Amino acid sequence: MMYQSTRDHRLSASSTHAVLEGIAPDGGLYMLDHMDALDFDWRNLLEMDTMSMSAAILSALLPDFKDMDGLVRAGYTGKFESDELTPLAAVGDKYVLELFRGPTSAFKDVALSLLPHLITAARDAEGMEGDTVILTATSGDTGKAALEGFHDVKGTRIIVFYPHGGVSPVQQAQMTTQVGDNVCVCAVRGNFDDAQTGVKEIFAACAGRDLGGARLSSANSINIGRLAPQIVYYFKAYADLVKAERIKAGQPVHFVVPTGNFGDILAGYFAKLLGLPVGKLVCASNANNVLTDFITTGCYDKRRPFHKTTSPSMDILVSSNLERLLYLLSGCDNEYVADLMADLKEKGVYRVNDTLLQRLQSDFACGCCDDEGAADAIETVWREQGYLMDPHTAVAWHVAEEFAAVRTDDAPVVVLSTASPYKFPAAVLSALGETPDEDEFAALDHLHALTGVAIPKNLASLRAMPVRHTDVIDKEDMLSYVLRKVGEKQW
Ligand SMILES: *Cc1c(COP(=O)(O)O)cnc(C)c1O
Repeated sequence: MMYQSTRDHRLSASSTHAVLEGIAPDGGLYMLDHMDALDFDWRNLLEMDTMSMSAAILSALLPDFKDMDGLVRAGYTGKFESDELTPLAAVGDKYVLELFRGPTSAFKDVALSLLPHLITAARDAEGMEGDTVILTATSGDTGKAALEGFHDVKGTRIIVFYPHGGVSPVQQAQMTTQVGDNVCVCAVRGNFDDAQTGVKEIFAACAGRDLGGARLSSANSINIGRLAPQIVYYFKAYADLVKAERIKAGQPVHFVVPTGNFGDILAGYFAKLLGLPVGKLVCASNANNVLTDFITTGCYDKRRPFHKTTSPSMDILVSSNLERLLYLLSGCDNEYVADLMADLKEKGVYRVNDTLLQRLQSDFACGCCDDEGAADAIETVWREQGYLMDPHTAVAWHVAEEFAAVRTDDAPVVVLSTASPYKFPAAVLSALGETPDEDEFAALDHLHALTGVAIPKNLASLRAMPVRHTDVIDKEDMLSYVLRKVGEKQW
């Protein structure tokens, strides 16, 4: 079973190679062609505990890894609040899938607790000796989750780029205080799209180049090793609904996903291809609603103002993983995808054909809301249900309410919760009608005093930690920065 570039079938890779490379040499993303034809018994999974479920799904998708069960257990054991990893909470007439109970309090932990183990195993399988240098662009949460996963992992080094002034103060403190001899954190003057484009350009510029024995890889969801572990929690949530007798196995469930780079929601689509009875996947966006327009009209147009919102991890206008969906919905037509991506790069816009649009709309619904809509959702759900949401989850909740009002069935609606409210205390306090404290750590205490909701340990301990990373560069200098860093023996 081989992975192929979404833009060129001739560029194929084993699953270990795809994970090590992160992105295909032509800038395409590695994909499997016939995920729906895999021999996969999804019903069997519903009886398993979360880690066994994870091992079963990952073995099917990444077959070249030996001992997936051991890798999964090494990645997760003791790192999350419970071994169930991602609990499902009933909130009002909906369900909230809590993905933020890992070591850095964001859903990225689900994949990034495991990715270092996958990369290490892939290095062994491929007999790689030089360092694997993980390049990561972050809209706020991937960076810390990746640093947490990769720090002091033998044979790896990690460089994280985040948008200067584009992440919350808690997110920034999480990254700039990171310890470890193999970690590097740098702010880029620009937004997330600039940082992500810069990283992709570095991959292109370094393809085939000798980096003193080192090789680049990615911890962003362009890496299939980052995406695959995220499929698991859709199965887990579904199994919980069956166990609670809310549904019988086989009945559909809708999922509403706060979306940025389209990785999280695409994992839900993969779950559907593997057989899980997923109803609609509802793509929720903030004021950067390029995906809402796309799913509604078939036209993807990034030529629009970039808004800084209270849900910064979704402040994205170029959603990388959409490329994988286009590939699947076009019947794996790599030339078609390559043309669309060329249009996006050259003109900033593309339009898909009617067949593709119909397929898209049969699986996906969409909606968006601005900061005010998210704040309203935080306040209402706290007042009526006593449940505290972060602004990203709140965007999805808002969209879920609109979706629930128009849908024609009574299937359960699951809202994916992607971060702890304590990563964004100022925005949450404002939503609750309080004046946020100037100091973000005072805001943490303030929010705790107001709500009584526990502060995650990793965030509470941040204030005592010294800042270790202060680099700020222009986006044009990302390549030379990486080359210089890779050349330094000691960081
Ligand atoms: C990354 C992130 C998202 C967006 O997920 P994508 O996979 O990029 O679509 C949403 N919410 C939070 C809190 C995130 O960190």
